[in-house]
Amino acid sequence: MSKPVIFCVIGTRPEAIKVAPVMLEFMNFSDVCTPMLISTGQHKEILYKSLETFGLKPNVDLAIMQHGSTLAQVTCRALEGLDNLVAEYQPSFMFGQGDTTTAMVAAMDAFYRNVPFGHIEAGLRTDDVRNPFPEEYNRRICAVSANLHFPPTTWSRDNLLKENRDPSTIFVTGNTGIDAVLLAAEQKDQPWYPEHQGRVVLLTTHRRENWGEPQRQIATAAKRLVEKFPDVLLVAAMHPNPTVRDVLLPILGNHDRIKLIEPPEYSQFVKLMQRSNMILSDSGGVQEEAPAFGIPVLVMRDTTERPEGVTAGTAKLVGTNEERIFQEGSSLLGDEAAYKAMANAVSPYGDGKASERIRFLVLKSLGIETPEVPMWE
Ligand code: UDP
Repeated sequence: MSKPVIFCVIGTRPEAIKVAPVMLEFMNFSDVCTPMLISTGQHKEILYKSLETFGLKPNVDLAIMQHGSTLAQVTCRALEGLDNLVAEYQPSFMFGQGDTTTAMVAAMDAFYRNVPFGHIEAGLRTDDVRNPFPEEYNRRICAVSANLHFPPTTWSRDNLLKENRDPSTIFVTGNTGIDAVLLAAEQKDQPWYPEHQGRVVLLTTHRRENWGEPQRQIATAAKRLVEKFPDVLLVAAMHPNPTVRDVLLPILGNHDRIKLIEPPEYSQFVKLMQRSNMILSDSGGVQEEAPAFGIPVLVMRDTTERPEGVTAGTAKLVGTNEERIFQEGSSLLGDEAAYKAMANAVSPYGDGKASERIRFLVLKSLGIETPEVPMWE
């Protein structure tokens, strides 16, 4: 009998990072299955750079992205490209991760083609389908198609239960992003700014809803923190999007304690997080990863679909108002007790075994027994 083909569909940097450990896990069982990494190509260089950390490359890259595409165009091209691949390779199982247009397209095509679909990082929700846009919509579509839901935490599981998803299809696995960050942390050390004796504050901001004025306020607050704390080096890992750069550069450029750097390849970014004392970010992934190393994160958004970190005390939601970010940043950098309370809080996002659990559950659903790992919660 031929081995079942498993499609791991990705399109953007965060999906590449969070699917990589799952792909590696299936590759460890390639005597019983044939995993294929399929990229729609929503992101290009940063996706390839992230996969390098794990020694992976897509088996197929649909390269759908064209300058200035609308969401509908991205959806159409990805769906058509993926559908042709499904017809050609006849996968027995398909995965999507998270909330991108690629994940939604994978879910839709799996539904049309009647291929079982597994949703990694299932159950994250805000109560507004338009916020974040279009991610909240995408993740809800994924849930409609999924035969197996892999929520990272009990909170995300409960969101699925509230939507009346079948409990026997829902498994709390932990977040595969924690598997990824722990794998990356094992890699060779990259010394970041060894000449700098003081503290490092890392800044990442890219979210669509923060483009323009919110990002201007974020950058100004970050600069004020540098000016208030003379031992602080601010490192801004700049998203390639020109809309973001056009705002950050004029505010943060030309300062001897501010480094504006190209987005580091994943394992180096992980080392940079480990070197940091505090992180200012609007990224979903960074919010989950930083607590694995005890680094406090100020989340520059008004809502988060990752409230577990806020509840556990590893992250604080500070919005995008300049004064608020400056005040919250100042209290952390200026108050050792407040800092320690956040740094010592325990990460709620996983134990690094999510991919093993997913491999066990998916292969079991295909009638293949492999070693079992107890569930995360
Ligand atoms: N990341 C990276 N280099 C960077 C910034 C982020 O490798 O310069 C990683 C980060 O560790 C996380 C992922 O990219 O795993 C998050 O991607 P992004 O912030 O683009 O998306 P989000 O998580 O907000 O969906």
